[in-house]
Amino acid sequence: MMRVFDDQTLLVATHNAGKLEEITDLLKDFGISVIGAAEKGLPEPEETGTTFVENARLKAHAASMATGLPALADDSGIEIDALDGAPGVYTADWAETPSGRDFVKAMTDTNDKLEAISAPTPRTARFCCTFVLAWPDGHDEVFEGRMEGQVVWPMRGDQGHGYDPIFQPDGYDITFGEMDRWEKNRISHRADAFRKLKTIFKNG
Ligand code: IMP
Repeated sequence: MMRVFDDQTLLVATHNAGKLEEITDLLKDFGISVIGAAEKGLPEPEETGTTFVENARLKAHAASMATGLPALADDSGIEIDALDGAPGVYTADWAETPSGRDFVKAMTDTNDKLEAISAPTPRTARFCCTFVLAWPDGHDEVFEGRMEGQVVWPMRGDQGHGYDPIFQPDGYDITFGEMDRWEKNRISHRADAFRKLKTIFKNG
């Protein structure tokens, strides 16, 4: 049975200010105070897992053990079927360059890999978002969200971030890069995971 969250304070194990703000906003109606990892001076653990769940677990348990607070962590990325699920947990890594992250390069490399194997279309793919909530006693709960779609080329749209310009969600003829933020936030993998996460809070 799922453990219900009835603590006062939740630690959000992220150093990303945008994510912290998004999660704080989501939880504003639940009467929980939310603290970020930076505020507690926590280090960023290495993401050594090979699945989204493993990485989110690593981050959530490390933060929970270090602080004695229940801690929430997430991991996300895109899985492309013709590439056997790559880039998956390495989604951000594919964008790394000596001078910082470059997602145009990451998207170009992705398309080159698909072209090199003449991957048939539609090039089915999904964005995944996994949340793990871990307690100091070692218990955790996992919430997984997805958005199915396909990878397209060329890149379209300048909204959003990351791989949005090459991801066309099922049921749409526009990419996430062409979709307004409100609409994307309503249907995305993160929204799906959030919906599931909310059920753990007493008033959720
Ligand atoms: P992390 O979850 O912070 O480890 O980041 C995973 C990577 O997945 C990000 O750097 C993005 O490139 C990619 N990603 C996750 N969600 C989205 C999305 O909604 N649109 C585009 N890219 C995303």
